[in-house]
Amino acid sequence: MSTQQPFPKKRLALFGSTGSIGTQALEVIRSNTDRFEASILTAQSNEELLIKQALEFMPHTVVIGDPARYQKVKEALQGKPITVMSGEKALEEAASLDAYDMMLAAIVGYAGLRPTLCALDNGKSIGLANKETLVVAGDIVMQKAFQKRVPIIPVDSEHSAIFQCLVGETRNPIEKVILTASGGPFLGKKPNFLVNVKREHALQHPNWSMGAKISIDSATLMNKGLEMIEAKWLFNLRPDQIQVVVHPQSIVHSLVQFQDGSLKAQMGLPDMKLPIQYAMAFPQRIPNDFPRYDFKKVSTLTFEEPDLRTFRNLALAQEALEKGGNLPCVLNAANEIAVFAFLRNRINFLDMTTVIEKTMAQVPFIQQPSLQQYFDSDGEARSFAADLIHL
Ligand code: NAD
Ligand code: MG
Repeated sequence: MSTQQPFPKKRLALFGSTGSIGTQALEVIRSNTDRFEASILTAQSNEELLIKQALEFMPHTVVIGDPARYQKVKEALQGKPITVMSGEKALEEAASLDAYDMMLAAIVGYAGLRPTLCALDNGKSIGLANKETLVVAGDIVMQKAFQKRVPIIPVDSEHSAIFQCLVGETRNPIEKVILTASGGPFLGKKPNFLVNVKREHALQHPNWSMGAKISIDSATLMNKGLEMIEAKWLFNLRPDQIQVVVHPQSIVHSLVQFQDGSLKAQMGLPDMKLPIQYAMAFPQRIPNDFPRYDFKKVSTLTFEEPDLRTFRNLALAQEALEKGGNLPCVLNAANEIAVFAFLRNRINFLDMTTVIEKTMAQVPFIQQPSLQQYFDSDGEARSFAADLIHL
């Protein structure tokens, strides 16, 4: 009889536990309580769900970002052995605790950068969903991970696919990577259509159910642009080694081409629980009962070029990728403001591109920014973009 070695449970810190990625990560934990536990949960404003999650998973610490909601969380968890924190520095304090082994970075946007840097400073490994962290300051983040010898394991499905293709290939250089894009809800549409689309329409993604910001980014193809920049840092690639191809079925999650011309792909149904689980369990693959891909149901896989003339956000992101420096940080900040304004019906779909383009032209270029210069570039870009649209 074989005896299995008991292994200690991996203690996860879910930063952004109430979001689309956070809640799916908790589903994975719920199905694997022998392997994982949730030791930190954080949310910005959904205190109801945070309380519910805390009562179920009994973490060491919870953080509610919005201080106005602190009292309610504190009272609901009264008498439980759970520390409740709030306020500006709480995320960084929580990231500095010893109470966890791996951070699942699932906060949306620039707000995820500082806590992730703190986790790295404390030698924690990262499961990275928050792509904006690498878009804003990828050089500094990757360098910190390297210095601390901690892994950053991608959760974004395309990057998880590439990461999975690279297992066993340490000595084999990448010739290029091919990121697949679904094309979003407006695939095949032209600007005269896009100018009139409403937020409700843009939020309907054909293959994935996601948070509001990434859903809009998928509709504009900015998401794929951010992912090109994310890939550059994660896999140490030159811009010309990163190609995007539209694959509307979202079955091939991305590909790696090696120096012998061989292509490796990772495939499966579009379900974020798979890359989340992979990052959490790496290097193991653990069984699950997620639905399986069936060739009889989706028998045709198609691939086409992205339409860069219509979806100009992707062209702007490629420009930022090529020029580097603080330009991706500026692009990201302007995009966050533009998406925020679009979601509140303050600007139309195509205006988002104009805001980003003008902001990129305005904020002074810095070739090798310090961390502080990234913070400053983010601030400058945000205030310029907000002024443009009178926010
Ligand atoms: P979401 O909007 O559903 O959830 C965001 C989470 O972050 C929530 O828990 C929220 O409370 C928290 N949050 C929001 N603003 C915050 C702030 N200012 N400070 C602290 N916490 C804050 O987002 P999501 O779809 O889960 O995406 C999270 C990240 O993962 C994004 O960077 C996204 O690009 C990336 N990602 C998501 C998917 C997906 O399928 N949803 C896929 C790939 C990558
Ligand atoms: Mg993705």
